[in-house]
Formats: sequence, structure tokens, C-alpha cells
Amino acid sequence: MFELVLGTNNAKKLIELRLLLPEDQVQLTTLAEIPESIDVEETGDTFQANAALKATEQAKHLKRWVLAEDSGLTVNALKGQPGVMSARYAGTHGEDEANNDKLLRELEDVPDEKRDAHFNCYLCLSDPDGQVRLEENARCGGRIAHQRSGEAGFGYDPLFIIREYHRTFGELDLRVKRAISHRSRALRKFIPRLMRLIEQES
Ligand code: IMP
Repeated sequence: MFELVLGTNNAKKLIELRLLLPEDQVQLTTLAEIPESIDVEETGDTFQANAALKATEQAKHLKRWVLAEDSGLTVNALKGQPGVMSARYAGTHGEDEANNDKLLRELEDVPDEKRDAHFNCYLCLSDPDGQVRLEENARCGGRIAHQRSGEAGFGYDPLFIIREYHRTFGELDLRVKRAISHRSRALRKFIPRLMRLIEQES
């Protein structure tokens, strides 16, 4: 069995990642289960750079295969913000409520047709030597609402409207998010490549 460490501490992201990875072929361990894991600082300017940092630094430290993910929201009317700052847009890391309040404030006078946005997800797999072995990414497009709706998901989900459904990710069942999200799309492209790599490595 191929042993893979999921390099994120975000419990909601873990749920989404675990749902898609084939646990009969890959034995998944989370950082929470590894006391000696380190906190990798996200000092990169791009999602790709931050995903690579989180994968390679953790992998070198643990001497294990690590799959890391960096994601965030890109809003056209805000010149791409919050972007790599998505988790700490309002100042403190992981303050979803404050981040959503700030986003609503920044878009206060922006009309519907100019509220286009997309989520990005970048995945990076590092081998135990800290070499990047696979990278993948995907997007999910939508529009920013004028107020929050729904309790599902995390982060900007209550503000992110999926046009086809006329609902926010916060209102949609996790099964829908699993089918269309940036994270799922990136993983669906990533998994067959991971399977080929596992075959080569064994
Ligand atoms: P990271 O942990 O640095 O990758 O931060 C990702 C941040 O982007 C999260 O804290 C959320 O604010 C936002 N984000 C990423 N994916 C999603 C999603 O699926 N829904 C809502 N917000 C997301």
C-alpha cells in the first residue's frame, strides 16, 4: 500500500480530499496524526508556489510522500484578490467570517454582472527527498453574492454562487460540491497520474 501524507490541517479540506482519494490503494495519513509534522509558512506569491512549499518542506522533514494543496478565491473586480491571501484576507489566518465581511465590503457597490469570481486549486505531490513529482490544478467559476446563504462547506462558500444552480456552495449539498469544485476537478485529473506513479514506484 502506498503511504501518503495529506499536507493540510484544514479539516473541511481533508473531508473533501479523503472522499475522492482511493483508500484501497493509498493509505492516507493527516498532519494531525503526525506530532512531528511542521507548520510550513506560505510565503509564495502564487498558489502553485505555496502548494509546492507545503509539499516539499513537509516531505523533506518527515521523509515521506506528501500531497499538499493550495487554494483560494480570485475575484475579477478586485484585480484577482483575495488570491493567495484568501485564508488571511481580513488579517488573521482562517477567520472565515471576517474574510467574508471584508469581501462583501470591498464589493459593496459592484453590480451583479461584475461580480465574477473563481476558486483555484493547486495540488503538489512531493517525494520523500523533497522533489516535486506531480502537479495539477483546476478552477471552479461563479459569482459573489450580496449576502451570505447557507451553512455548508467553509471559507467563502456562503458567498460563492454557482450559476447553474442559482445557489451558493453554502446552500448546496456536499455531493454537488464534490462533483464540481476546483478541488474535485484537480483531484480527478491528479488521481490517474498518481496511480501510474505508484505503479512505477512499486
Ligand atoms: P489555504 O489553506 O492557504 O490553501 O487557504 C485556502 C483559503 O481559500 C481558505 O481558507 C478559504 O478561505 C478559501 N477556499 C479554498 N477553497 C475553498 C472552498 O472550497 N470554499 C470556500 N473557500 C475556499
